[in-house]
Amino acid sequence: MEEKTYKFNVTHDKNKPAQIWFQESDEGLILFTVFYTQACRWSRCIGCNLPSKMSKEHIGYKTLIAQIDHVFNNPEVIQQRKSVKKIIISNNGSVLDEETFSSTALIYLMAKLNLNFPNLSVVSMESRPEFVEVEELDFLGRVLKEGDTPTELEIAVGIEAFDERIRNDIFQKGLSFELFENFVKKIAPYKFRLKCYFMQKPVPQMSDADAVNDIKQGIDYLSSIAAQYNLRINMHLNPTFAAKGTPMEKSFKEGKYTPPKLIDVAKAAHSGKDKNISIFIGLYDEGLAVEGGSFIRPGDEKLVEHLELFNKTQDYNILQDILPETG
Ligand code: SF4
Repeated sequence: MEEKTYKFNVTHDKNKPAQIWFQESDEGLILFTVFYTQACRWSRCIGCNLPSKMSKEHIGYKTLIAQIDHVFNNPEVIQQRKSVKKIIISNNGSVLDEETFSSTALIYLMAKLNLNFPNLSVVSMESRPEFVEVEELDFLGRVLKEGDTPTELEIAVGIEAFDERIRNDIFQKGLSFELFENFVKKIAPYKFRLKCYFMQKPVPQMSDADAVNDIKQGIDYLSSIAAQYNLRINMHLNPTFAAKGTPMEKSFKEGKYTPPKLIDVAKAAHSGKDKNISIFIGLYDEGLAVEGGSFIRPGDEKLVEHLELFNKTQDYNILQDILPETG
């Protein structure tokens, strides 16, 4: 298999998070925070260069606390603090892996959320499922309940592809549905929310039609899991881009891979109509795509607007309007 060639980000100021940005969704204003920590210890997934934004070395709790303070001192965060309904906590890997994200810093962050975001309703934490300990989540959930408004906990995990061969043999996700469902069984009694990341067309070995079909199957699968375990599930559907320093960059440059078209992303998302999950379409490549390797092409501005509106409303008529053939 092709190697990844990206480097870690060694020049980043350790006292600042890697990135923060705001997103609009049907749940209201979301603050997305990516803390700068030791990179994902898995780091194998072929289309992923998220570790390139991270540190090669361990980042200790005092430095992480400085990053957290930096977020809460950000003028835009201060200005929007009463409007923030949801925060996504990420370190481009697993926030619940205490080897990369200190437990002290996590508790400090929960306290800062209670103190600063009075209308927060969801805290979402990204993690590979193997790092999830429900006792820890139960405790964090109790901490969050002490805030001004009831705040639920959401665990965000990457599944990426429905097809097991694509997911594990080609993409190298290292996640079986058996492991995923064991994780679901663990969190179900606590009624935590679940967000599942999927990638549309994550590998070159898929046609555009295969990629749409894979997402449709993913939607059906998550919908059945939501019904079976009575869980609230959101699919975060990321169209794939050709990520710098990964085998996907090479395939893209050799003409063996083209990112999915946004119209096909709309088509795939449309199959979520009348299913019991919500869908959020990721439209931001975090500056990680090679030039020309994004899923947003010149002329896509209107489509992007429609998809952003869908994210905010979950109104399937918006998708229907751009897909007249779906009748
Ligand atoms: S997709 Fe997630 S688990 Fe895979 S290498 Fe990237 S950060 Fe790590």
